[in-house]
Amino acid sequence: MKDMSLSKKRTVLVVEDDLINREILSSILSDAYDVLQAENGKVGIEILESWKKEISLILLDIQMPVMNGYEFLKTIGQTPSLRTIPIIITTSSNATDDEIKCLENGASDFVTKPYNPDVILRRVGSMIRLREASSVIDRVERDTVTSVYSRDFFFIFAEKLLKNSETEYDIFCCKIMYLKMLQSRHSQAKVEKLLIGIVKAMEENFGSDSVFGRLSDSTFFVLTPHKARENYENISENLRNAVKTLSIPDAVLHFSAYPSVDGKVPVISLCNKATAAVEDVKYQFGKQFAEYNSEFKDKYFRHQAILGYMESALKENQFEVYYQPKYALGKEKAGGAEALIRWTHPKLGFISPGEFIPLFENSGFITELDFYVAEKTCRDLREWLDSGKPTVPVSCNLSRVDFSHPKLAETIVGIADKYSIPHELLHIEVTESAYTNNMQVFLNTVQKLHNAGFCIELDDFGAGYSSLTVLGELDIDILKLDMYFARNMNSPKQRLILEHIFSIAKNLNIEIVAEGVETKEQSDDFRDMGCTYIQGYYYSKPLTKAQFEEYLNK
Ligand code: C2E
Ligand code: CA
Ligand code: CA
Repeated sequence: MKDMSLSKKRTVLVVEDDLINREILSSILSDAYDVLQAENGKVGIEILESWKKEISLILLDIQMPVMNGYEFLKTIGQTPSLRTIPIIITTSSNATDDEIKCLENGASDFVTKPYNPDVILRRVGSMIRLREASSVIDRVERDTVTSVYSRDFFFIFAEKLLKNSETEYDIFCCKIMYLKMLQSRHSQAKVEKLLIGIVKAMEENFGSDSVFGRLSDSTFFVLTPHKARENYENISENLRNAVKTLSIPDAVLHFSAYPSVDGKVPVISLCNKATAAVEDVKYQFGKQFAEYNSEFKDKYFRHQAILGYMESALKENQFEVYYQPKYALGKEKAGGAEALIRWTHPKLGFISPGEFIPLFENSGFITELDFYVAEKTCRDLREWLDSGKPTVPVSCNLSRVDFSHPKLAETIVGIADKYSIPHELLHIEVTESAYTNNMQVFLNTVQKLHNAGFCIELDDFGAGYSSLTVLGELDIDILKLDMYFARNMNSPKQRLILEHIFSIAKNLNIEIVAEGVETKEQSDDFRDMGCTYIQGYYYSKPLTKAQFEEYLNK
C-alpha cells in the first residue's frame, strides 16, 4: 500500500505579530510546507480550532498583543485535541529565561532570531517526523509488547495521579540505545524478549506505586514517588545488570531522572526534559545516568545554541587553526606541530574544543570541520614552502566519527594534493576509540592513509581503554602518550609501565611524543627514557599562525 501521508504537504502555523518576521518565516517554510499565519495568540487559537489535526507544527512568538505566547501555550495545554501539536518558540538569542519558561509550559523547542533557514527547516522537519512517528503507537492504551501504558495513556494516568495525590513524584526515563541497530541484527522475538525483560526489571525496582509507559520504540518512562539521586543511580545499575541476563546481554541502556515534578506542568513537557537529559548521557564519558536539574538546563540550552551556530560559524570563518610545536629532544628545536582548532563566537565568546567537539561528533559535523582544518593546514604549509620559511610536519586530528565517511582517505589525499604538499609533511592523529568502534573500516582506512605516505600518530595513548594489541595491528609511526603519564610520573608503578611502553615502541620502531609536559622535571624524565618529542606548555602553548612562524624562526 502506498503511504499517502508521505506525499502530502504538511501545514505549519506561524503565530507572530511582526509582519516582517511572519513573512520571513513563511518564505523560509513555503517551499516545503503550507503556511498559515496569525498575528496574535487569539487568532492562532481560532485557526487551530477550525483546522485542528491538519496543523503539524506551530512556530510561536512570545511577545504579542491581545494574547501573548504564554497565554497561547496555556490554552493549548488545556485543550487535549491540540496538546500534541509540537510548538517551536521563536526568540531573540539572549532570552534564555523566556525559553526555559516556554519549555516548562509545553513548548518543544526554540529557534533564535535572526532566523537561520537551515536550522529552522531542520528543526521543523525533525519535530514533525518525531510527532508522526510516535502517533502510530498512540492509538492503543497498552503497549502491545510490554503491556505498559502507551504514550497518550501514560500522560493521562500520570496527570491523574499527579493531580489527586499529595505525594511528591519524579519522572524516570530509560532509553535503549541503538535500538534500530539491535532490530536489524537480532530477531524480532529476541528484541521483544529484551523489552519485556527490561520492563519486568523496572517493575521490580520501582514497585506498584509507580506508573510505567512506553513513549517511543526505545524509551520507557516511570512516574514514581520521589527518591534521592543515589537511589536512581542504584536502580540504573540494577537495570544494567538485569540486561546482562536477557536475550541481548550487550544492549546498552541510558537513564535520566527529572526530580520533584510540578503537577501543574503537562506531563509531556516533563518527559521532554527527561528526554533531553537522557540524550545528553552519551556526551558524558563513562556515565549512564543524568539528572535534569538547573545546572543541566543551562548546559542544555548552551549545547543547543552551539549546535545552532556551528554551520554559520564555519561559513563566517570563526574557526581558527592554532599550531602547537612538538619539541624534538636532541635536535633541540621544533620537530613538528599539531593543528588544533579554536572557536571564538561573537556572542558566546571562546568555546573550548573539549566542549564543542563531543557535540560536533554526535551531530556528524566534526567531519566537515576536520576537513576544514586539514585544508587550512595544507594551505599554510604551502605558504611556508613557497616563502622558503622553515617548515615542519604538521599533524591533523581525525575523530573516530570521521571513519564513517566512505571516502575519508581519498579526501585527505585530495586535500594534500590540491596544495601539492609532500605527504610526509602531513601527519594524521587517530585515537583508539575509533578502533573499538568499527575495527575493520578503521584498519583499512589507516592502512590507506599510511600507504599514501602520511605518518600515522596514535593519539591519547594510555587514556581510557588502551590495549597494546593495537600497536601490533596498526601501522603506527608515532605514539602520543596521553598527558596522564606526565601527571603521574612520580608513581613508581606508572614509571615502570612507561619504561615498558618505551621499550616496546623502540622494538617496533615507533617514535614517542609525550603530551602535556609542563615542567622541566617532566621533560628531563622523558628525555632519560628515550622520548623523541615533547608537546606541552613547558615548550610552547598552541600558537596562532603568526606566532608559530615566529617560533620556527627563532
Ligand atoms: P588532543 O588531541 O589530545 O590535544 C592536546 C590538547 O592538550 C590540546 O587541548 C592542547 O591545547 C592541550 N595541551 C597541550 N599541552 C598542554 C599542557 O602542557 N598542559 C595542558 N593542561 N594541556 C595541554 P585542546 O586544544 O583544548 O583540544 C582538546 C581536544 O580537542 C584535543 O585533544 C582533540 O582531541 C580535540 N581537538 C582539537 N582540535 C581538533 C580538531 O581539529 N579535530 C578533532 N577531531 N579534534 C580536535
Ligand atoms: Ca591530538
Ligand atoms: Ca592527545
